[in-house]
This record gives sequence, structure tokens and C-alpha cells, in this order.
Amino acid sequence: MSRFWNARTRELAPYIPGEQPRQRAYIKLNTNENPYPPSPATLQAIARAAGEGLRLYPDPVCRELREAVAERWGVKPEQVFAGNGSDEVLAFAFAAFFETEPDAAARRGGAVLFPDITYSFYPVYARLWGVPYECPRLQDDFSIDHASFLTRCGGVVFPNPNAPTGIALPREHVLAIARYHAEQGAVVIVDEAYVDFARSADGAGGNVPLSVIDSIKDHLNLLVVRTLSKSTSLAGLRIGFAVGNEELIEGLCRVRDSFNSYPVDRLALAGAAAAVRDAAYYEETTRKIISTRERTAAALVEKGYTALPSSANFLFIRHPILTGAEFRIRLREAGILVRHFNAEGGVSRIADFVRVSIGTDTDMDAFLAACAKEAV
Ligand code: PMP
Repeated sequence: MSRFWNARTRELAPYIPGEQPRQRAYIKLNTNENPYPPSPATLQAIARAAGEGLRLYPDPVCRELREAVAERWGVKPEQVFAGNGSDEVLAFAFAAFFETEPDAAARRGGAVLFPDITYSFYPVYARLWGVPYECPRLQDDFSIDHASFLTRCGGVVFPNPNAPTGIALPREHVLAIARYHAEQGAVVIVDEAYVDFARSADGAGGNVPLSVIDSIKDHLNLLVVRTLSKSTSLAGLRIGFAVGNEELIEGLCRVRDSFNSYPVDRLALAGAAAAVRDAAYYEETTRKIISTRERTAAALVEKGYTALPSSANFLFIRHPILTGAEFRIRLREAGILVRHFNAEGGVSRIADFVRVSIGTDTDMDAFLAACAKEAV
């Protein structure tokens, strides 16, 4: 605490990101980064942008990147917003669409809803902006009970697949939530950070992509948020985007332009546009990660671990005996970083789990060898 902080700053409970070690060469499975490099075309585009043009401000409306996104996902550039990582896009969305003033919140339907076990940045944004929120409980198998979101409220936000569980909610349930809230005009934000790693889930073994980007034209209150940090190997470039109807996108622009008109720099714009156009490369690395994930999960289950069914680039696992905190420390001693979420508030149900990002096959072999030592 400092006497220089205002009341709002004293009240903040900031998000704690996973460790980025500086000294020792750990096998880093703690922040869901991609183990494979960005594509050659992406790196060439960044190198080309690293020139004398850097003396000029970047394009404030990120036109080229929005056009690339629009073309790839079959929407209009006016239906795309780009920001400095999806964390920023989410922060802007909380500010743009969720009420803070109690009377306005009550008129819109009350608190904003997100699951009790989910991306831990959501309560941080809510407290930053002063948005009232409630957290429906995940079911005992850690899946989202979509019916718990079919109730009048001030808005909804959840990741699909969820984090840190990795469990996906079927498309038809996501769309049922969007449909339910359309009438009252409450915005439903689907954070698809990990969607490219999802197995197809149409409930009948068919091959339907999980993303609901294609449904934004049918649901005017649906905002889909994506990131290039995971399946597109660009966590270091900081690019996220949102897709939704033009009114939602204009709302995000109003917030951005009241905060920082140039949040996406020239190198990031060039690299991101090239990466979005280089889908084939990233689809291939994504396939490799999915196959490594499946092999790792099967090996863990064989050793007596619990692994939740993951549709993401990480596994949420429980050691047969050790607590999550103990297991994380043992792995760290073995040179492997994973993420453990402290049991706070309603999340004590996950105290015995750790989240393990999927690395290369070599990384995961080292991880499995360490797990074999820790199994009893
Ligand atoms: N949403 C979820 C569910 C995440 O796990 C993350 C990564 N921490 C983000 C959004 C933010 O990703 P970024 O800011 O790198 O785009």
C-alpha cells in the first residue's frame, strides 16, 4: 500500500501472470505458449516492417489486419476489432458493454455472469471497471452447465474451451446462451482463445468447428474474442481481435479511442496480417500439438493421474497423491514449469490440479519422465 495510490488502486486485485523465468533453461509449460515458431512468412513480414517507417504512428484502425481476418473468417472488416492482445480486447469489452452504475445494471438485468472456475482475468476486469458479477458453479465434472447462464443478467462472458479446465461447451449450447440474451440486449462474449485446438463437437461424432464466428450475423449480441498468442505462436507480438456486429465493434472503438488510439504497433500489425493469411502453416503445428496432447493425456491416465478431457493446448491434471502445490514444486525442481491455481474463493475444487501446456514431443517426454518419478 502506498499513500499515493487512490482508493481505486488500493482496491485492485491484479491478475498474476505465469512466471517468465530469466535465468535457468526450464521446460516452460506454464503459460500456454506455442512450442513451435511463427511461420517464415510471418517473420519476414515483421522484418520488412522493421524499417524507417517506424518513425510514423501505426494505422489506428488496423485496416490491413482487419481485412485479413475478415477474408479468412468470411465476415466484413467493419465486424472486426483488433487490439493489443485479447486481454486488452476483453478489458475494452467489459468497459463497453457491461453496466457499472447500480440502477443501470438492474435495468439491464443485474450482474454479469461468468463461471466460478474460469480465466482469472475476468473478475479482475470486473473489479477494475466496477462491474457487478456472479459466478455460476461448474458441474461436478468441471463442465459448464449452460442452463445456469439461461437467466436474466447484465451480460455473459466465458472461454470456449474453458480455461483452465480445457473442457469445451458444444456449439449449440453456446448459441442457446447467445439466443437467450439477445432479447434483453445483454452482450454474450465468447473468448475463443483455445478454440483451434478443439476436437469437433457436434454431439454426434461429426466434424463441426467449435468456433461461433460464423454466427455473429444471426446473433447481434454475440462478440467472439480470439488471440494470435496460442495456435498462431505470436504471444510475444500481442495481438487479439474480436468479431461481432458493427454496433459492438463501434462500441469497442469508442473505448479504445478514449484510452489509446494506437494500441497495435507497426511490427505487430504486419506480422499479424501475414500470420492470419498463412493458415496452412499454423493448422499443421496445431495438428501436431493436438496429437502430442492426446498421447500425453493417455500416458498420464495410464500412470494413475486424472486428466480432464482437453480441447485446448494444455491439460488440467491431478497427481494420484500429491497436492497441486506440491506437484508443481516437485516439477519445478525437475526443471519443468507448470501452473497451479491457488485455492481462493470458490476455486478450492481445483487446488489439487495443475495446468500443463503442451510443448514439443521432446518437452512432453521429459515431462512424462518426471511424472513417472512422481507417481507412486
Ligand atoms: N483468454 C484466455 C482464456 C486466456 O487463457 C488468455 C491467455 N492468458 C487470454 C484470453 C489472453 O491472451 P492474449 O492477451 O495473449 O491474447
